[in-house]
Amino acid sequence: MTNNSNKDAYDEVFASLEKHNKWFEDSIPLIASENIPSPAVREAIISDFGNRYAEGWPGERVYAGCTYIDEVESQCMELAKKLFKSEFADVRPISGVVANLAIYSAFSNPGDVMIAPSIPAGGHISHGKKEHSGTAGLVHGLEIEFFAFDSDEMNIDVEKTKTKVEELKKQDRLPKIAMFGGSVFLFPHPVKELADFLKSYDMHINYDAAHVAGLIAGGEFQDPLREGVDTMTMSTHKTLFGPQGGLVLAFEKNADAIKKATFPGLTSSHHIHHMAGKAITFAEALEFGHDYATQTVKNAKALAVALNDSGFKVLGEKKGYTQSHQTVVNVLDYGDGGKIEADLEKANIIVNRQLIPGDLKAKRHYMHPGGIRLGSSEVTRLGMKESEMQQIASFIKQIVIDNKNAKEIATQVTEFRKSFQKTQYCFDNKLGAYEYVKLR
Ligand SMILES: *Cc1c(COP(=O)(O)O)cnc(C)c1O
Repeated sequence: MTNNSNKDAYDEVFASLEKHNKWFEDSIPLIASENIPSPAVREAIISDFGNRYAEGWPGERVYAGCTYIDEVESQCMELAKKLFKSEFADVRPISGVVANLAIYSAFSNPGDVMIAPSIPAGGHISHGKKEHSGTAGLVHGLEIEFFAFDSDEMNIDVEKTKTKVEELKKQDRLPKIAMFGGSVFLFPHPVKELADFLKSYDMHINYDAAHVAGLIAGGEFQDPLREGVDTMTMSTHKTLFGPQGGLVLAFEKNADAIKKATFPGLTSSHHIHHMAGKAITFAEALEFGHDYATQTVKNAKALAVALNDSGFKVLGEKKGYTQSHQTVVNVLDYGDGGKIEADLEKANIIVNRQLIPGDLKAKRHYMHPGGIRLGSSEVTRLGMKESEMQQIASFIKQIVIDNKNAKEIATQVTEFRKSFQKTQYCFDNKLGAYEYVKLR
């Protein structure tokens, strides 16, 4: 890019970082997989924990120097168990993908079959096939079969899934693992309806709560550990508003298998500073998580209704659009998801293009899919309520349907954002949500 000195390159990196923070201060962040952690979590992340190793389990480390790390990690596990009413928590997986790999490693062998949602039906690439470079297939050698999906209901089809499993049994391809959860996740999955059936075939049932963990913690979505799953995996930074990281929850009987998979199987350093950030997040979620989750879902619904009223085709209409933080819109009347994503970005509205049911059959792929996905998680964290969702829907309509000038809308967006600069639903918020902290 440039031929400048090392110091110039160094300065350029910092300039980009500062510009990024400023941009987000002025924008409407609607990526459903993102959120903003509290200033307290940011403080934990810059502590010296980020420079240490603590391999193993509290009290059984392989290095010295872990006294305070052990205190925090024990607290972190206790808080995670309390938050999710879980018998066991492994707080070490460094991401949602690594948490899923811990489940694959602990409860299956390469060559086994897993049943999961397909990607156009909302599944995540970490549940995917080898030929798509999905983690389950590529890294652990699992064969992938898909749940039957009903795109009117935007949910797993219970009866057709049962038929499919019986077919798989006849072919001697009975899944070892059943994976619920996904990345397009509007309505609770039918865990209660399928758990006994899947267990009668000895399947290990995991629920990937990467997207909806904060809603589950707040008592707003479903309660997988009480509905029949064996284990639950998640990211800690989507609706659960923590640092980037992962978490595995389980019943005591599966604890040992998970512990070994996480270490030494899948981590050496488990990013101790992020572990401390998770502890802070769990405490915040115990205190504020219910109010946050309730408002997040209300906001997603308000956004869906307002977009529908503006003329957009919002998915899940039959079921009231959404029961999560997500709103998914079919934008084929106005172009494709890739174009709309780019148009909105010019107006400082940050969304992602999204594969929706029917895309693959119509030969649309992920660069130019039929939809966009919007998340209410971050704007809710900034204190926005239903009336702000109507304003956001109006900005989106003006860009996508009315083809208004993006620069003009961007100016209005920046003005609109001025009243929402602090992180809410946390104990302390002295620092602005996107305030750039200079330590140099
Ligand atoms: C985001 C996501 C993941 C991956 O999480 P990372 O923390 O980014 O590794 C896994 N599963 C689902 C369903 C997701 O949406």
